[in-house]
Amino acid sequence: MTVRVRFAPSPTGMLHVGNVRTALITWLFARKNAGHYLLRIDDTDTERSKKEYEDAIRESLTWLGLNWDEEAWQSKRLDRYAVVIEDLKRAGRLYACYETPDELNLKRKALLSQGLPPIYDRAALNLTAEQKAAYESQGRKPHWRFKLNLEPIIWNDLVRGSVEFDGADLSDPVLIREDGTPLYHLCSVIDDIDFKITHVVRGEDHVTNTALHIQMFKAMNATPPQFAHLPLLSDPEGGKLSKRLGSMSIIDLRDQEGLEPMAIPSLLARLGTSDPIEAYSSYQPLIDHFDFSKFSRGTPKFDTDELERLNARIIHTLPFAMVKDRLAVMGLSELDENFWNAVRANLERVRDITTWWQVAKGPITPIIDDADFTQTAVTHMPPEPWNESTWGEWTNAVKNATGRKGKDLFMPLRKALTGMDHGPELNTLLPLIGAEKAKKRLSQLAA
Ligand code: GLU
Repeated sequence: MTVRVRFAPSPTGMLHVGNVRTALITWLFARKNAGHYLLRIDDTDTERSKKEYEDAIRESLTWLGLNWDEEAWQSKRLDRYAVVIEDLKRAGRLYACYETPDELNLKRKALLSQGLPPIYDRAALNLTAEQKAAYESQGRKPHWRFKLNLEPIIWNDLVRGSVEFDGADLSDPVLIREDGTPLYHLCSVIDDIDFKITHVVRGEDHVTNTALHIQMFKAMNATPPQFAHLPLLSDPEGGKLSKRLGSMSIIDLRDQEGLEPMAIPSLLARLGTSDPIEAYSSYQPLIDHFDFSKFSRGTPKFDTDELERLNARIIHTLPFAMVKDRLAVMGLSELDENFWNAVRANLERVRDITTWWQVAKGPITPIIDDADFTQTAVTHMPPEPWNESTWGEWTNAVKNATGRKGKDLFMPLRKALTGMDHGPELNTLLPLIGAEKAKKRLSQLAA
């Protein structure tokens, strides 16, 4: 059996950490099993669906390196849905209802006030042809509900284990709106059948939907696929994801935050699993170790600091070839591999490199704590050419001449040379600054 999965976003908003996690985990499962990954655009809500969101979804997935094998749009399949709707009506599994939203609300409130679950009472099933005609003559249009079988619904969830519902505890879901447009449940199940989906992976907010869908698959003479429901992410305090990086769109994490794409899957693929979270520069190890059995049912906590740490760790080993073009866009096309390798360990974001480029190329404002000391240092500068051992030779000579050591020796030199009290190792930075600029800076000259 070939694994066939789908990621089915509604183009009514941007992809965030939460929904992209579903995309990622579905993708890892597909790639692990040499399966087929469908990107299904759930765009039947024509009022809220927007082309710009659809484009942003595709752009987000592409940036993250999550490729897909096929693409489908629900809005292009309305004819197909219409055929299935007729079949279900003929089979008596879809029935017309005429209640207004206010009437339904009243019924719900009445049940709740009696301490009863707000299950739809199926009053519409008892309407006579005359009553229906009367509603229609008042201008009411029916919405259509799926008639559930009042029987147990059981499935073995790949994450949650055995899950059990009873049709008697659920309301018959509305599948067709008053204006005749089909709703998510109907389109989704028809698509899952037609695209031969073998595994449905989605958030646990869909667990009850799955109970409904299983009966719908059966009503359409199809075998339900397998299901995996992922617990939804929370913030570190267990609340809704709302903090900074957690609530930003993937596009903003790229453009505003300047994150590395692999930082995101490095965290999201392993969160809530028994595998350790590490910084990965490629997907292969994540694919190789993927298994639904490693996912726990607990709520995984999304920690922004952890994302920051993974991002930095990825940059610290990022090869120059991977950033060359981005540096050029930042106006740093002169920045070469040597420079990149010298400073990358100090970066939390690639864009921070502009600071160190400025320090190396100047001009900077030197910080001089003790002019006599820095002048003495000038007189002990080794001759060019400079390399990685120059800093060691030089500071040794200055140490012998002045008797200073440790921080007293290094810090005034760092502040004079860079205008800052922290930064990349000076043995790598010093040759990048060069003797001419170093001499000027130690002599309090802007350079
Ligand atoms: N469009 C639905 C959503 O975004 C898809 C859910 C599903 O995977 O079936 O929630």
